[in-house]
Amino acid sequence: MAQSLKGKVALVTGGSRGIGAAIAKRLAADGARVAITYAKDANSATDVVKAIEAAGGKALAIQADAAEPEAVQAAVEKAVAALGKLDVLVNNAGTAIPKPFVDTTLEEMDHVINLNIRGMFVTTKVALQHMNDNGRIIMIGSCVGERNLTPGLAAYAATKGAVKMFAQSLSREVGSRGITVNNVQPGPIDTDLNPASGDWATPQKAVTALNRYGHVDEVAALVAFVASPEAAYITGANLTVDGGTNA
Ligand code: NDP
Repeated sequence: MAQSLKGKVALVTGGSRGIGAAIAKRLAADGARVAITYAKDANSATDVVKAIEAAGGKALAIQADAAEPEAVQAAVEKAVAALGKLDVLVNNAGTAIPKPFVDTTLEEMDHVINLNIRGMFVTTKVALQHMNDNGRIIMIGSCVGERNLTPGLAAYAATKGAVKMFAQSLSREVGSRGITVNNVQPGPIDTDLNPASGDWATPQKAVTALNRYGHVDEVAALVAFVASPEAAYITGANLTVDGGTNA
């Protein structure tokens, strides 16, 4: 495989499972040294690091709740100290609590807002203090941040709409440094958060054009391209990888 990210350093939040783990492995396969953060599951984080190292790469796992500013600050500083610099930030940590909005508690609303929006703000701000010129900031938004076909996602979709506008807006503030800011918007992807089987999966699969869930590697491939030098003229863009859900 071409090593398009050779010599680069990437930080992937929520990189221990699901989409984030696939992104971390793919960026490492493309030549980057990679730090991942995770909240709770140290074993999964260690597995990702081991898989990257077994393939000849360099990786580091850091426990840091993306919703806790002090933890995020320490994680970014630790990644930079251990890996030498920062070229690519992937804001992947995020979650959904699918349920009718009228049944959603204030605590649940606060949780998705704090992780999906506030955590992304804080991580991006700290990362920008360390990021090299011509760096890459990549948000993992969602296709529901633009158009939502699935009841039960009102609060989550609103947070991903915020991710979209943040990426577009920030691109205009850091472009003078050659830093690009883009929002990768997955559709239904088979992970612990959104398993491809079960009642919840049926309506999501039905609204794809391809009549299937996506694989984590299909999101990672798009992220790897956006992170690469070839994507230097793509910024402020919302890049959807959703099997045609929003077609
Ligand atoms: P998973 O729940 O499968 O994995 C989440 C990852 O994030 C885990 O590594 C988890 O680590 C970590 N994480 C969770 N909470 C925190 C936290 N507070 N701080 C730091 N890390 C945390 O999610 P997915 O892979 O499915 O989703 C990843 C991203 O993709 C999210 O932003 C999601 O909104 C988005 N997305 C997902 C879609 C899908 O269909 N799966 C569709 C569209 C967007 P730990 O186990 O330690 O908590």
